[in-house]
Amino acid sequence: MSGRVLVVDDVPTNRLLLRAKLSSAYYDVVVAENGTRALELARSEQPDMIMLDVMMPDIDGFTVCSILKSQEETAHIPVIMVTSLDTPEERIRGLEVGADDFLSKPFNDLALFARVRNLMRMKMMFDELRLRDMTSRELGLTDYISEQDMEPEVGGPILLAPRCQREGEEWDAFLRDRLNVPTILTSSEREALNLARLELPDCFVVHQHLMEGGDGLRFVSALRARPETRQSAIILVVENGDIQTAAKGLDLGASDYIEAPFDPSELVARIRSQLRRKRYSDWLRSSVRNGLKMAVIDPLTGIYNRRYAAQHMNRVMERAREIDGLFAVMMIDLDKFKVINDRYGHDAGDAVLREFSRRLQENIRGVDLVARFGGEEFFVAMPDVDQLAAAAAAERIRGAIEGAPFILPHGAGEAHVTVSIGVAIADSSDEDAEAIIRRADLALFESKEGGRNRVSFFAQAA
Ligand code: GH3
Ligand code: MG
Ligand code: MG
Repeated sequence: MSGRVLVVDDVPTNRLLLRAKLSSAYYDVVVAENGTRALELARSEQPDMIMLDVMMPDIDGFTVCSILKSQEETAHIPVIMVTSLDTPEERIRGLEVGADDFLSKPFNDLALFARVRNLMRMKMMFDELRLRDMTSRELGLTDYISEQDMEPEVGGPILLAPRCQREGEEWDAFLRDRLNVPTILTSSEREALNLARLELPDCFVVHQHLMEGGDGLRFVSALRARPETRQSAIILVVENGDIQTAAKGLDLGASDYIEAPFDPSELVARIRSQLRRKRYSDWLRSSVRNGLKMAVIDPLTGIYNRRYAAQHMNRVMERAREIDGLFAVMMIDLDKFKVINDRYGHDAGDAVLREFSRRLQENIRGVDLVARFGGEEFFVAMPDVDQLAAAAAAERIRGAIEGAPFILPHGAGEAHVTVSIGVAIADSSDEDAEAIIRRADLALFESKEGGRNRVSFFAQAA
């Protein structure tokens, strides 16, 4: 997994050094010598990650970072702040302006590559989600999702897995003071695993050594292996200077690490940043899920659309081949529907379409599939039926529409509605779904020509 890294530093030797290190690991490197140039390149080159020096003559790294994070085209790019001071105050300030990570000069290669790999992985995941989300958006499918769904202070608790009881109580006390999120304090690896499943935490704080001889790294990899915690944030706490364990933790799936002893405010800032990221990815995921659902459902009637029906036809044909059986396809069109719109208005027309879909669904079997192809034209696929059974079903549907008037909204009275139906019977030798649908359409045309409110079958040539 390689990617493009933008290295920003005002000192030429620092740029050269980082470029050499990253290139040797096959990353594609772009460099900028100051903050202004960094902002330009971040937009034009769309790097997968930015390594940003804090001290620069024109605009300092904190300001560059906060500008990057406030612009839509660059907000999603992970930023590693490169510091030489490396004080907790500096890290906290960085996290507050949206930095994703920190490295201090001089570089420890192990820490450098573990951090880069970790952020690249995260970036790729976000890119894929964003892409799918954009597709749904372009189709106009997800704009009803409100910003409220991204509310940062709602979600699961924070689970604490400390090295000892006293440490756990300290963490618990200052997190509860500073974050408006419930905490769960655990006292063994086993208890932590059980509670992880029951309480669905959004974030874990895990010491490398757990109570009762537990192993923090083993716990991290167990969390990543389980579907219910795969997306949670995990912050690994390692002994001061134990970069080896930190790097291993990141590779096993920890989202971040912090070296103990640490300034409590730094842990709070790291948790905040992880929660923000987690909630954004949850929001993207649910938006993609909704988008996918909306991509196959007709919003007016709640039944499947043509796109889904086309997929479904493939399964119906497959099954017919397996059992060498027959199946039927029905096209249904409301008669003189335009008149209802013209006379009672578009809302009344919509209500009729909804009521029609309801009656239609009531008069088919569970294995049959109904879809709205568009306008007032509907489709039904009926597996395992012969002409006789299909004729009975079509008659039942026709009768259910004609048999009772449709109540119109806003006290506009009622309307008498009828439908015309065309049916095509297909067998295991039929391989072209569109051709079968065309035959049903021809039969439908015959019903319209014959005076409407009737069922016609496509006359087989054989
Ligand atoms: P025919 O019996 O020949 O099918 O006549 P028709 O009036 O039903 O057919 P035509 O295709 O002339 O008109 C269909 C009408 O359906 C026109 C269009 O405005 C209306 N329509 C299509 N989609 C919708 C919808 O989603 N809501 C409403 N209210 N009307 C719709
Ligand atoms: Mg019509
Ligand atoms: Mg029509």
